[in-house]
Formats: sequence, structure tokens, C-alpha cells
Amino acid sequence: INERIAALGPDEPFFSFEFFPPKTDSGVQNLIARLHRMAQLNPLFVNITWGAGGSTVSKSLDLATLCTAELGLTTCLHLTCTNMEKNIIDETLSKAKQHGIRNILALRGDPPRGEEYWTPPESQEFMYAVDLVRYIRQEYGDYFCIGVAAYPEGYADGSNPEAQDPKIDLPYLIEKTVAGADFIMTQLFFDTDKFIAFEKMLREHESGVFRSIPIIPGLLPINTYQSFIRTAKLSHAHLPDRVLEKLDAVPSTDDEQVKQVGVDILVEMIDRIYNETCHRVRGFHFYTLNLERSVALILDKSNVVKTPLRLKLVAQNKEQKTEKP
Ligand code: FAD
Repeated sequence: INERIAALGPDEPFFSFEFFPPKTDSGVQNLIARLHRMAQLNPLFVNITWGAGGSTVSKSLDLATLCTAELGLTTCLHLTCTNMEKNIIDETLSKAKQHGIRNILALRGDPPRGEEYWTPPESQEFMYAVDLVRYIRQEYGDYFCIGVAAYPEGYADGSNPEAQDPKIDLPYLIEKTVAGADFIMTQLFFDTDKFIAFEKMLREHESGVFRSIPIIPGLLPINTYQSFIRTAKLSHAHLPDRVLEKLDAVPSTDDEQVKQVGVDILVEMIDRIYNETCHRVRGFHFYTLNLERSVALILDKSNVVKTPLRLKLVAQNKEQKTEKP
């Protein structure tokens, strides 16, 4: 990923997509067909998520391998390090290398299913994401390009949303970056002001560690009103009045109108971020939720992130109006 970013023009924007491994075989087949189409939208790279505690080991690896080997995409495999046997980490890294996957998003991981809050594991080897970053560097040197997560609105596990403040996490983000992160990817957000302030805080930090590292905002295309509210709530993302007013202007049950308003919201966010950071932020990561239409519409409309013309057809395809993951 860092080599591909470096090969772009100095201000040239780019975008990436995130996919999760579907649970069923038919879901996988659906996604494969969609991946073939979405690959043509020309993302700089794609991310494949990892189930907390290693619940999707082979599915995540298989999907990442398919993206790399069959679709020729630059692929970033997410990997968490807690609530999981160490040999899973070792096997995954080894297989990733074997299958030509060069990028890992190194994460701590969410609490295991059914548990609301994260509790430190018994083994002290992998307590935080920084431990995984160090481990990958120690075992694989520079083979992997490593990304780490950041939270423009502060880290939130739901235990104390009042105390959310990006300054609290700052020492740990510095630690992860110094340990060997090549890029930073953020939690989804809708409060553009907060992201812009966060990016500024990082760039201006006296340590200088964030001066040139790519900071890639995570964006959630709006597919339906319900899924938007649910996902924003789960991520503890603040919903600015401006965003809510735009959505409230159309019936929440009209998925097509909601989607169109969502496209305008995202297009404006991208435009503001690209321009107000003076193009320091030029990569935009879409949490696709395995859906293509909203993303294609955004790429079709944005003046910043663009896709080859012929693919505008994807966005216009009426059959996809009711797409399912
Ligand atoms: P860390 O960087 O370890 O931070 C977690 C918390 O610990 C923070 O509050 C931090 O301030 C604190 N902390 C860090 N280091 C220290 C220290 N040395 N001492 C004390 N406190 C410390 N989860 C999945 O299960 N699968 C995925 O595929 C996945 N993808 C994600 C993609 C992105 C872009 C993001 C933003 C998150 C993703 N997550 C995923 C969620 C992530 O695993 C959780 O948010 C997790 O709770 C924290 O992960 P982290 O890597 O940010 O952890």
C-alpha cells in the first residue's frame, strides 16, 4: 500500500474498499461476483476484515487470497491479536506471505462475542495492537506494510462515551506508529470537523511522527436509514445536526432517497477533507458492508475520488437498487 501511494502523483486522490467474509457459501459466491465488478472501479487497495478472536480465520484468508491472486488487487488483511491463540497469528502471517498478501491492518480486536467490554487477556504478550505491530516487524522485517487504527472522536468501547477524547489515545497512537506502522486508518465518522481537527492535531504533534504518514479516513456509505443509525451508534460516531437534517428531509423508509442523500453527504465530506487538509489527506476508505451501489454512486458524483467513466453504469444499474450483502 505505501509503495502504491508513493507511486501516485503528489496530490493525487485514491480510495479503498473494505469487505467482510460472508457467513454462507451463497453469500461468498454473491460477494465474489460483486468483487469482480468492484475491482473495476479501480480501488488502490481492498481490506478484508477479521472476526474478533479469530472467528473467521480461513474465510478471511481465503477472501484476501482471492482478491490478491485472482483479482490482482493490492490487499490488506485485518488481523487482531487478543482473545486468540498465538499460533493463529503465526499461521495467518505465514500463509498471508505464502499467498502474496503484503499488507496487514494490525489491531487489538473487539471484545469476544457476547462480552460488552474488553478485558485484558491472561497472556501479556499481546495486550494491545502495538504488540502485534512489534511482533510482525520482529518476525517479518519490512515484508508487510502495516496499518493501524485510529479514532478521530476518541476510542470508544461503550464503557464511557462521555470520556471519548482523541487526546487520551494519542500516546498509544504514537507508540503504534513508532513501532512500525506505515499508514493510519480511522474509525468511521460523520463529523467532518472532528476528523479535520484530529488530522491537524496529529500533523502538528511535536514528536513529528505523524508528519508524513498517510492518514486514511474511514467512511460509511449510507445504504438505508436504519443501517446508518445502527452502525453509527455501534461505532459511537457523533451525528452532526447538519447530517441528520439532510436525512430528515426525506422519508426514512424510502431507501432510494436516503441513499441519494447519503451520497451527497459523503461527497461533501470527501471534498471538505481533501481541500481543508490541503490534500494532505487524499485517500478515502469505504466501509462498503459488501454493497456496491452507494459506493459507485459516490465515485460517480465526487470531483475528488474518481472511477473510469464506463463504470458509471454500475451506479445506474436499476437492478441493484435493492442489493443485499
Ligand atoms: P489499541 O491500539 O490496542 O487500543 C485499544 C485501547 O487501548 C485504546 O483505548 C488505547 O488508548 C488503549 N491502549 C493502547 N495501548 C495501550 C497501552 N500501552 N497502555 C494502556 N492503554 C493502551 N476489529 C475486529 O475484530 N476485526 C476487524 O477486522 C476490525 N477492523 C477494524 C478496522 C478499523 C479501521 C478500525 C478503526 C477498527 C477495527 N476493528 C476491528 C475494531 C478494533 O479491533 C477495536 O476498536 C478494538 O477495540 C481496538 O483496536 P485497536 O487496534 O485500536 O487497539
